[in-house]
Amino acid sequence: MPKFIDTHTHLNFQAFRDDYGQTIDRALEEDVWMINAGTQFDTSRRAVEIAEEHSDGVYAAVGLHPIHLFEHHVDEEETSFNARGEEFNIDSYKELVLRSTKVVAIGEFGLDYFRMPKGVDPKTVHGIQQEITKQHLFLAKSVDKPVMIHCRDAYDELYELLKENYTGPGEIHCFTGTWEQAKKFIDLGFYIALNGIVTFDKTGRSENVVKNLPLEFMILETDAPYLAPEPHRGKRNEPSYIKYTAAKIAEWKGIAVDEVAHQTTKNARRFYHI
Ligand SMILES: [Zn+2]
Repeated sequence: MPKFIDTHTHLNFQAFRDDYGQTIDRALEEDVWMINAGTQFDTSRRAVEIAEEHSDGVYAAVGLHPIHLFEHHVDEEETSFNARGEEFNIDSYKELVLRSTKVVAIGEFGLDYFRMPKGVDPKTVHGIQQEITKQHLFLAKSVDKPVMIHCRDAYDELYELLKENYTGPGEIHCFTGTWEQAKKFIDLGFYIALNGIVTFDKTGRSENVVKNLPLEFMILETDAPYLAPEPHRGKRNEPSYIKYTAAKIAEWKGIAVDEVAHQTTKNARRFYHI
């Protein structure tokens, strides 16, 4: 049994092109397992390839991130890149899922009303994001996998969409909403995934979510290479840094780190069948 499972990371990204192998080794040496999440077809395929290179401990999720639906420039906090527009070809993604037993989820996909392409009517963008989200939900059902959902500035819209269109296992990756919003997703049977943001969020929102959220509904992730926790803030993140997020959660909850590790890992293993 691993100590931690980084349920959402991106060693399939360019940032790890030269040393993804060593980065995986560092994580496995610390008993950290991981799921590399695809964000478009190329990175989804890469996630599957990396998972296939390893036996236990390295898994993949495949999906098309909403920022890749349109061609536009994206300024991430710690990196910047040009997002290519990609059509969601459900058959290609399905083939990718069926290619490997190491694919454990459909993701990441979802709604991103924060990073919007310029020159396109926001209503059109929202409509397309919702339609592609529904297609991912359909894919997940058809291959019997849980969903790993990205959501930014659209929690209430996502909740309504899920309530109308989905019954099945799921998690909200990189949750930054309020406790009231988290509670609604829990009521749908979803897990809430937390990452390094909890170590530097000064708004009090993460603290409130952590203090209210029962460990039974919590899983952990890094979202590396982004969102490195303190004390590595601003650097490239990696799966082995998941311990800093767990430590902060333990501190806020007034419990031992081992308890956070044990329960969140148990949740992730049950949820992803790993
Ligand atoms: Zn991600």
